[in-house]
Amino acid sequence: MSLDARARRAAEAVDPDRVAALAQGLVRARSVFEPGRGGNETTAAAFVAEALRGIGLEPLVEEAAPDRPNVICDWSGSAFDPAVHRTLMFEGHSDVVTEGDPGQWRVPPFEGRIEGDVLHGRGSADMKAGVAAAIAALEAVRSVAPDLPGRIRLGIVADEEGMMLGIKHFIERGWADEVSGAIICEPEENEICLFQKGAMRLHVRVHGVMSHGAMPYAGVNPILGLNDIVTTVRSLERSEQVRLGAHPHLGLPWITPTIVMAPAGGEAQHNVMPKEAYLALDIRTVPGQDHDALLEQISARCREVERATPRLKVEVECFESRPWTETPADDPLVRAFEVAYPEILQRPPRYGGVPGATDGTFLRAWRDIPIVTLGPGDRTIPHQVNESVRLSEAVASARLYAAAAVEYLGRVTSIRPVSADA
Ligand SMILES: [Zn+2]
Repeated sequence: MSLDARARRAAEAVDPDRVAALAQGLVRARSVFEPGRGGNETTAAAFVAEALRGIGLEPLVEEAAPDRPNVICDWSGSAFDPAVHRTLMFEGHSDVVTEGDPGQWRVPPFEGRIEGDVLHGRGSADMKAGVAAAIAALEAVRSVAPDLPGRIRLGIVADEEGMMLGIKHFIERGWADEVSGAIICEPEENEICLFQKGAMRLHVRVHGVMSHGAMPYAGVNPILGLNDIVTTVRSLERSEQVRLGAHPHLGLPWITPTIVMAPAGGEAQHNVMPKEAYLALDIRTVPGQDHDALLEQISARCREVERATPRLKVEVECFESRPWTETPADDPLVRAFEVAYPEILQRPPRYGGVPGATDGTFLRAWRDIPIVTLGPGDRTIPHQVNESVRLSEAVASARLYAAAAVEYLGRVTSIRPVSADA
């Protein structure tokens, strides 16, 4: 199958200057979430909404939480009929992680400086260039295919870097219900990613009995219990890695201790054995792992540790579970990218996997929406100092989005059944 002629024209209609200007404006709109210091996504969301209003669209701004706005904007071709046609979502987040010490940056992190092909700044890759590419792609599709039998829903949401409140709110409000496929515009080096790693976050609290350091036998040391738990989850990690092997796009599963605190609260003192110790586990999962079963295995091992020491108590709490996702290779959205890829990028499609969870995780897990994660920027650069993105790569993303959108929406005559018209 070759690329629809209109899809090619939509790709060509992407304006590189527009992509650069949008990405630069977004980097300048600092959107680090800093509760108590006034930092949030408001300015970046307003910038997106203003850009959309500027081309005659009517974005909606909804707060996922106080001062944490989602921007939602629909465009549909004149031939669009919601009863029979597809809706493609362009998904992005407006928040960025902290810049850390600005003195560590070669270029000030929110200046938005462009040097040649490179845009510098916090969020340039993760993921303001991706958001810019999505907006520019929407504009290109609209100019070339005004009668497209489909709809594009832009969702630029808050709090991806935290608890993903933005996308959860978006889904809970019903915005995902009509979405038949979604492009997650995260920095993935323009690789077609059909897999995303899962994540679980656990609190482990080990309760012992406080005592004098000179008389440890009078109490129960929770630090020793915590040590046993670290050891046993490490062996569970090893056995899961052996059982599953390395996934071709996601690598190995991991169970990583990330925080250890003892005492878990209050003042630490050298000669006091604390009553409580705390352990955080950051768990990353791959296809073949069931989150409930894994949690049960960890809990069972913690109960063993508990049983081995009288008066020791262990509590395990899973406070976030983001399943791994897999999108079928024969999904029409995947096909649309595969058709567009060689013509737009002049090379065969490249495939990858997403090492962390994204907003797309919840679109897939909660609403079963096929997702393709693809966007500009090196996969390892997010959250580092001196973050930057190549603008030519962002333009390539925008061209891919535009072509894939026309291909995906334009070829369809009816979404019933979806799989029959790929
Ligand atoms: Zn991101």
